[in-house]
Amino acid sequence: MAQQTHSPRDFDAVVVGAGFAGLYMLYRLRGLGLSVRVFEAGSGIGGTWFWNRYPGARCDIESLEYSYQFSPELQQDWEWSERFATQPEILRYLEHVADRFALRRDIELETRVRSAHFDEASGRWAIDTEHGPVSARFCIMATGCLSSTNTPKFPGLDRFAGATYHTGRWPHEGVDFSGKRVGVIGTGSSAIQSIPLIAEQAAHLFVFQRTPNYSIPAHNAPLDPERVASVKADYAGFRAQNSQRPFGANFPLNEVSALQVDADERAREYESRWEQGGLGFFTAYHDLILDRAANDTAAEFVRAKIHSIVRDPAVAEALSPEQVIGCKRLCVDTNYYATFNRPNVTLVDVSDAPIAEILPAGLRTTRASYELDCIVFATGFDAMTGALLSIDIRGKAGRTLHDKWAEGPRTYLGLGTAGFPNLFLITGPGSPSVLSNMVPSIEQHVNWIADCIAYLRAQGRERIEATPAAEDAWVAHVNEVAGMTLYPSCNSWYLGANVPGKPRVFMPYLGFPPYVEKCNEVAAKGYEGFALG
Ligand code: FAD
Ligand code: NAP
Repeated sequence: MAQQTHSPRDFDAVVVGAGFAGLYMLYRLRGLGLSVRVFEAGSGIGGTWFWNRYPGARCDIESLEYSYQFSPELQQDWEWSERFATQPEILRYLEHVADRFALRRDIELETRVRSAHFDEASGRWAIDTEHGPVSARFCIMATGCLSSTNTPKFPGLDRFAGATYHTGRWPHEGVDFSGKRVGVIGTGSSAIQSIPLIAEQAAHLFVFQRTPNYSIPAHNAPLDPERVASVKADYAGFRAQNSQRPFGANFPLNEVSALQVDADERAREYESRWEQGGLGFFTAYHDLILDRAANDTAAEFVRAKIHSIVRDPAVAEALSPEQVIGCKRLCVDTNYYATFNRPNVTLVDVSDAPIAEILPAGLRTTRASYELDCIVFATGFDAMTGALLSIDIRGKAGRTLHDKWAEGPRTYLGLGTAGFPNLFLITGPGSPSVLSNMVPSIEQHVNWIADCIAYLRAQGRERIEATPAAEDAWVAHVNEVAGMTLYPSCNSWYLGANVPGKPRVFMPYLGFPPYVEKCNEVAAKGYEGFALG
């Protein structure tokens, strides 16, 4: 493989995106001695944690785990202040990483990548950015699973006289809602985190809910120094243990079925996990996402909690989800349900009376009108494929990724896609990604990609591409596994169901620990399922 770059704009590798994934990819590729350029659309690094500055934004996997492990020194030095760090703290951490490892000199900010075309003659990617063309042998998409925002196209939106905000594009200077009539559209994780804080400020808050969600209390608190010391005493061991757990996080899995124990024991288990707080609630029994009757026991427990917290029974009922718990991503909150006891908060159920139009001074559902000074779109993302498909990506014979993925994304291991040589996806569709603690998943992908590039170089190879047969088998396997679960039973963003017209395909792969073994095995067998050239 040519190590030499051809001009200052020709690189060994281009990485698109400077979040957790892009930063670490740059670090690893630089370590291999490659010339690398990272392009980032935002005016700063951090990805998710740069864009999502809404009130209450924080991680829902504990910070001691939702952080890099590639540098033992970094891991020891960094002090998280809370169990679940806030967005500003996570962004500070990523800024620290960028400085500590001198990453910034290879990152071009405010530079959106518009297209990436594979040139068969040279075997290089021709990449067009907002600030001109570049080329690279390897093109690595670190564009994020949840970075392309989804704003429903409500009629009249452009005529709204007040301010509108999307949680995923929050103004850096913050927003003062004091004295304002605020509408929040959506009740997913972003809404559930922001609603309690917006309610404390606003004159009145209207929450427009299409589907209620299950949320578990965070019980967030300053980190206990003793706990930090015990984790840091054997951080590698802590990470290794978590890597063997479902979702790659420290959620103790109860191996028994929820239906194997009696109602009292179940109630005790759920209560203890509710008290512990966080997503570990969902590993109370091994079959919660496999068996509807088992799932019902957990769902019923949370519905009872909602009724015990929310004073108005009609509001409690409207907040109580009917769908399978965990089918849409479980939320983690601080005071979410209790917020609906406030006199200045109104829940508007739009499930059977949808938002019909935005008016200059508010919005109208098919049932009633609401006067609003500002609207918060907590309406989520065109997840997993949105950021990739908004780049004009063309592989061999000029075939577009858009065309190839018209019926839904197709990848091998979520890392590569047939017909697109030397294109790598970090946490692409078909990998555990959003069904796991994402930072370790990102590190696993980055390490795999870096090791793969090092292997190609050592073997004197220039090209790697998933074979159609390996890809077909992987896609079938991902679908088969999803089909054995309750995930396909509701309209979640995992299925693309939140974006009108998006193909309904379950995009992530459920199976964190075995997936890593599979990736390692593929590499050990000389990249089985990939064609090398
Ligand atoms: P991102 O952080 O999304 O970064 C991708 C970057 O690529 C963005 O900065 C974007 O601007 C850039 N980009 C995209 N397209 C282009 C282009 N064409 N040209 C140039 N740049 C481009 N996961 C967890 O595991 N635990 C959590 O607690 C958790 N909390 C979350 C909270 C929020 C509010 C959200 C939205 C997501 C959360 N996630 C969480 C998922 C989170 O996205 C990942 O954990 C992780 O931050 C993703 O990192 P990334 O680098 O892959 O992508
Ligand atoms: P989301 O989960 O997709 O929620 C979007 C909300 O908007 C849903 O309630 C959805 O209703 C609603 N909505 C969309 N279109 C609508 C329409 N036309 N009319 C009315 N309502 C509409 O998005 P998110 O809350 O931004 O979260 C996305 C993911 O990011 C999470 O699942 C999680 O993985 C991650 N995240 C994590 C945290 C955290 O706690 N650390 C915080 C934020 C985000 P329907 O359900 O009916 O579609």
